[in-house]
Amino acid sequence: MSANVNLFDEVLANLESANRHLHLHPNIYQRLRVPRRSLIVSVPVQMDSGRVEFFPGYRVQYDFARGPAKGGIRYHPRVTLEEVTALAALMTWKCAVVDIPFGGAKGGVACDPTVMSRGEIERLTRRYTYEISIIIGPETDIPAPDVYTDEQVMAWMMDTYSMMKGYSVPGVVTGKPVSIGGSLGRNKATSSGLVTAVIEALMHLGLSLDGLSVVVLGFGKVGFHAARILSGLGAKVIAVADSKGATYNPQGLDIDAVAEHKKKYETVQGYKKGEDLSVDELLSIESDCLIPAALEGQINMTNVGKIKTRIIAEGANNPITNDADAVLNEKGVFVLPGILANAGGVVVSYFEWVQDLQRFFWNEDEIDERLNTIMRRAFKEVLAISIEKKIDMRTAAMVLGVKRVAEAVSIRGLYP
Ligand code: GLU
Repeated sequence: MSANVNLFDEVLANLESANRHLHLHPNIYQRLRVPRRSLIVSVPVQMDSGRVEFFPGYRVQYDFARGPAKGGIRYHPRVTLEEVTALAALMTWKCAVVDIPFGGAKGGVACDPTVMSRGEIERLTRRYTYEISIIIGPETDIPAPDVYTDEQVMAWMMDTYSMMKGYSVPGVVTGKPVSIGGSLGRNKATSSGLVTAVIEALMHLGLSLDGLSVVVLGFGKVGFHAARILSGLGAKVIAVADSKGATYNPQGLDIDAVAEHKKKYETVQGYKKGEDLSVDELLSIESDCLIPAALEGQINMTNVGKIKTRIIAEGANNPITNDADAVLNEKGVFVLPGILANAGGVVVSYFEWVQDLQRFFWNEDEIDERLNTIMRRAFKEVLAISIEKKIDMRTAAMVLGVKRVAEAVSIRGLYP
């Protein structure tokens, strides 16, 4: 996020825009503006040097009117309570947009996993899980991977929670390895869902996937799989960037080869069949579709002027600041907001949780088909609101999600 933008303020501003169309009762609206429960913990970790370091950790349950709280855990040096709160609010609207029975949560630890050993990350994960175990559980709040956390981290979380209970509790986290109750298809779920949303957008705009030029900002799990699936379907991924820089080839990149290169050199830069670019240069490349799939606030007032694309599909959560979003809308760029475009991850997390609770597992075709159906339905519902109310897709998605949450809050009433 650029230094002077507070992510939670941005999220609240979007809530306010949605409410201009929803006109919620002030009592309900006020309840949607505050998180339900926030936990701040201190995580002591014995480092390999023998010294004990303390890392601040958080878990925010924004709302659970529609079901257990749900959302990822992020390990990143810039994690703050305010950021986690904003991301928990986004999870709340996201689960409602795709109409799965969850509220929203998010967690994080302010640490730099890129300079920590595997053992240090394991000890951090286990102690953090213990600290937040007082509020998580398969019926209450179910974590999942997010920035710099993966299947292995989820396995350690599941194991720690299960050891504390004395029996295996696979349903306490999603995004686990398949061998301990993870779901087939979870790894690429966010990206497959995003591709479904892009295909729907193309149909709406009268464009075709064949030869579509795509630029991907962020080459982690979401960016990599999105690039790979789109290339497989006939699109031309012409540039990809990671945190260190970008590689560009107007003829289209071989995504597996770029991934191979990144594995070896820890960056996509230097890939021999591409030209090295800076991330800023990548943003000025003309394309049909841009996929920001890294951190929030990457597209902001300093670089939005350079963007020349038709469609933006947000793989990351809030990668565009609100002021930059207004500029893109003004330019007529079709922006698919993260609460719709990247919801495939949490949709398959929902499938994983259902499978864990039932101890009954589905095959990959069933997962893909159900995910597709949900993503297509959500896209159509959001598009219909956008057309009916003549509003952009972000506001339309907010109208849909917030309306569903508000209905649940309102019908449940106020306790006591
Ligand atoms: N971290 C992902 C997101 O932001 C997935 C969350 C989940 O599966 O619970 O949507």
